[in-house]
Amino acid sequence: MSKVLVNEFSWSVSRQRSFDECKRKYYYTYYGSWDGWNHDADETKRKCYMLKNMSNLPMFTGSVVHEVVQEILERMRDGKESDPAERAMVAENRLLKGIKQSEEGEWKKNSKQYINLFEHYYGGGINSVTLDTCKTAVMQCTTALFSNRIFERIKLTAPVQWRSIELLESTKVDAYKVWVKFDFALEINNEFHIVDWKTGREHEEDLAQLACYAFYAKNTKGIDPDKIALTLVYLRDNTWRTERITGEQVDDVRKAIVTNCVAMQELLDDKENNVASEKMFPKTDKKYKCKRCNYKELCGEK
Ligand code: SF4
Repeated sequence: MSKVLVNEFSWSVSRQRSFDECKRKYYYTYYGSWDGWNHDADETKRKCYMLKNMSNLPMFTGSVVHEVVQEILERMRDGKESDPAERAMVAENRLLKGIKQSEEGEWKKNSKQYINLFEHYYGGGINSVTLDTCKTAVMQCTTALFSNRIFERIKLTAPVQWRSIELLESTKVDAYKVWVKFDFALEINNEFHIVDWKTGREHEEDLAQLACYAFYAKNTKGIDPDKIALTLVYLRDNTWRTERITGEQVDDVRKAIVTNCVAMQELLDDKENNVASEKMFPKTDKKYKCKRCNYKELCGEK
């Protein structure tokens, strides 16, 4: 008998970002698209699910790099060497393969399995300059990893000290389930190190994201915040920075998660069963956001 999937309420950094960006977008992503994978689901749900799975070129470029970095670390864990030029080529080929899938509309067979890019779906396409920029980015980021000081330090550690390579984990904050996904984590000399690979430029919210991971480490593993090191690695520029946060900041993360969960649930029709209706989730009044939004077709903002 197949397991019945239940749309459970939870919190994550990406869920919060979506909620902050546009309530309607949040609704489409976490409620409107639910069950849309089912062939018997109504047309709106199916469209919503397809649009939810759609990527865009910068995001896809970043996900290719993340995938390849993950594989390099997994190979290292298994005692296998990786050649920078060969891995960069793998990354480039994967980028080009995804773009081709999108161009040829393979996603129509399965929108989760095949790449569908915003640039193709909504027209405009990808010009040769943009394509070259993305090709250069995946190759640069992949090769930069090998000469990055953080990666060199990871190489000196034993995989038995590694705690996570892209592992999705959850914890509880009051009654709320909280999801986190570390790019990489290791425990050494009584310290917990959390590493996040970035393929874009520095953003203000980068550290806030890592603060949530620090909260997770304290909440589930009881690690003192002063024993947690948070490192952001910017692969494109091959730079990095390590930050620490205080116990007070970790407590603030906890409070913010609870406050935000309450705000999210206030818009629900039925909190107990996590039931939502579209009309309760207003569209953003910042219309410039609609231009790059996957849901603009469904939302009528095209
Ligand atoms: S198109 Fe605009 S209003 Fe509609 S979901 Fe997207 S961001 Fe929100």
